[in-house]
Amino acid sequence: MAEYKTKVLIIGSGPAGYTAGIYAARAGLNPILVSGSQVGGQLTITTEIENFPGFPEPIGGLDLMQRMREQAQNVGVTIVDDLITEVDFSKAPYHCNSAGSNLFCGDTVIIATGASARWLGLDSEKKFLGFGVSGCATCDGFFYRNRDVAVVGGGNTAADEALYLTNFAKSVTLIHRRDSLRADKVMQQRLADNQKIKIEWDSVVDEVVGTENPLGVTGVVLKNVKTDSKKELKVDGLFIAIGHHPNTDLFKGILELDNDGYIKTKDNGCETNIQGIFAAGDVQNPNYRQAVVAAGSGCIAALEAEKYLSRQN
Ligand code: NDP
Repeated sequence: MAEYKTKVLIIGSGPAGYTAGIYAARAGLNPILVSGSQVGGQLTITTEIENFPGFPEPIGGLDLMQRMREQAQNVGVTIVDDLITEVDFSKAPYHCNSAGSNLFCGDTVIIATGASARWLGLDSEKKFLGFGVSGCATCDGFFYRNRDVAVVGGGNTAADEALYLTNFAKSVTLIHRRDSLRADKVMQQRLADNQKIKIEWDSVVDEVVGTENPLGVTGVVLKNVKTDSKKELKVDGLFIAIGHHPNTDLFKGILELDNDGYIKTKDNGCETNIQGIFAAGDVQNPNYRQAVVAAGSGCIAALEAEKYLSRQN
């Protein structure tokens, strides 16, 4: 067991975590970043990214996160590939225990543990993830120009994604497990008004089907939950939009969370209800879920941590 001490402890290795690390390191705070179990975060399961500034050609999600990691290391962030399993925020320095039996002590902590997309849980969904199955229309919609796509879900995200996809796709089928949508009425009206969108009611995806070489989606088998009948719908892409859950289990009963489990922060910044603890990226802001927004949030958290530390001296 090792004991690590730092002025700024960062939990999470997505764009928010790495950016917080880069800013804290350049402020001379010698940050330590604990990467978590999915090193690089959600972007590592995205195939190509075209909307992160600075990359005129598409860049793979894994590649982008590897570059952020290298950049963080180059400016002096100490990265430990470990998973925080327990936190004690009762007094500073704040203590965090890890799965690797290490103890991390931080005068400040920046939480950047992100959110995870909910998935259907099908083997075939996993198989085609990044090869026709996606959790983000904003990230991947562009690749489906004049193609047929489907979106699973009946909430505002599914409605948003279906409408967004009509900018590119030839047709968009919304697949919903019930006979009424959870999405706001205004969104429902927009769906109804859009000629490219049709809805498969009372339906769930039973299987994603596709080609092996190259790996790619060609359709989905839909099951009607009322009749149990099955049919195949030909699509080139399937977007899963059944919600996200913030990775905040560790902080329940310790930090103030909103009703959906996201960490509450003050005024548009990253301060939590405990001084010296900050939250950045998707773990505190469910509204945008974009890498560039999370990176910006990581920068804010590091600047706030620096200010907080300078007030303590
Ligand atoms: P929601 O929880 O609102 O909706 C999830 C949808 O997925 C529901 O329709 C649910 O079905 C369906 N679903 C859940 N699990 C499964 C499953 N296993 N198989 C099939 N379908 C499933 O999540 P959202 O991400 O849509 O929204 C989260 C929050 O963010 C909401 O408060 C929403 O209003 C907000 N939001 C607001 C936006 C805006 O204002 N523009 C845009 C996006 C989100 P069922 O209805 O049967 O439960």
